[in-house]
Amino acid sequence: MNIHEYQAKQLLKSYGCPVSNGRIVLKADEVKAAASELDGPLWVVKAQIHAGGRGKGHFKEAEAGEKGGVRLARSVAEAETLARQMLGRTLVTHQTGPAGKQVNRIYIEEGSDISRELYLALLIDRKSSRVSFVCSTEGGMDIEEVAAHTPEKILSFSVDPATGLSDFHGRRIAFALGLEGNQVKQCVSLIKKLYKAFLEKDMEMLEINPLIVTTDGQLKVLDAKLGFDNNALYRQPDVMDLRDVTEEDPKELEASRFDLNYIALDGEIGCMVNGAGLAMATMDIIKLYGAEPANFLDVGGGATKEKVTEAFKIITSDPKVKGILVNIFGGIMRCDIIAEGVLAAVKEVGLKVPLVVRLEGTNVELGKDIIAKSGLNVIAADDLADGAKKIVAAVKG
Ligand code: GDP
Ligand code: MG
Repeated sequence: MNIHEYQAKQLLKSYGCPVSNGRIVLKADEVKAAASELDGPLWVVKAQIHAGGRGKGHFKEAEAGEKGGVRLARSVAEAETLARQMLGRTLVTHQTGPAGKQVNRIYIEEGSDISRELYLALLIDRKSSRVSFVCSTEGGMDIEEVAAHTPEKILSFSVDPATGLSDFHGRRIAFALGLEGNQVKQCVSLIKKLYKAFLEKDMEMLEINPLIVTTDGQLKVLDAKLGFDNNALYRQPDVMDLRDVTEEDPKELEASRFDLNYIALDGEIGCMVNGAGLAMATMDIIKLYGAEPANFLDVGGGATKEKVTEAFKIITSDPKVKGILVNIFGGIMRCDIIAEGVLAAVKEVGLKVPLVVRLEGTNVELGKDIIAKSGLNVIAADDLADGAKKIVAAVKG
């Protein structure tokens, strides 16, 4: 789960990390009061969406001279004008994809005078199963770009959980970032706070881009992106409260409400499967036969007819889906339940695209029988390869 920049900054502030004062607003009418509570002479107006690259992004239907989602204002009135321009608009950045994201919240912050922009991140390194630090002197730009063109400018190391974090880790980062004098101390202190926050809040990623040195030599967190481990959210109620469901894929949200695992992808074939392993195999074989999965929806082990019905409705509601492959290996899950769920859903929402069903396992004959007698235009498949071939053929015509 991700949260907004302003929420991330509040959380980091509660750990004692240096951030600017700011106010969040949902309506343009609130901007004047909010900005007046902050010290000038510079205000930053920042669109809050769950995506980076806002500064270099652009609004849809932008007028000439109109720039991205991070703007500097020299007066409260100018801050208000900028916020009015952003609210309700769709901001497109290289991370949002071409559809962009609607801006519903604006963060107004006291502007900083920047001397240097640096990069700092903590993340879980799956290879070493440890928390890793990544830092670079090249802040304010994409770390992927830096990694591609000047990898020598990135320092990365992991922390041994047995011995934990010590001051030398912080100093190592400080020197890599070219910090001097008192800034080294500030860096060591910041690193400790970030590491503590990262562990205590079950984060997956903590990215500060940029971490700045102000013209008066202070380190400051200017932008912050936090991601949390979904599997640990049950023990992080404070973090759960920060969830903004308007930022999430509505179909994924609907699926989570029914305890279904739904992942949206970019292709044209909707996949209803049971079990993550079968999901992977199904996607692989669809690709092997020349098409791309539009999603996969894992109905899990003990799904009811109602759950299967919901699953089918979620898949068919995606206009990208040009065909559906139901691929179920019934172990705990019974094939007749799947068949009944599919039929119930089709009765409710209709079937506008080809449907291939491959059932195997418990009550398979009963399941096949239910579908055969339904009079629906379902293409039956015998095995995985057969199912994939048939749905690709039906979609590609
Ligand atoms: P992002 O584009 O979504 O990553 O948003 P950031 O919060 O990182 O802001 C983008 C850029 O705007 C930063 O790299 C800075 O160059 C600039 N910026 C943001 N806040 C300030 C500020 O307080 N003062 C100044 N001078 N520039 C800022
Ligand atoms: Mg940034």
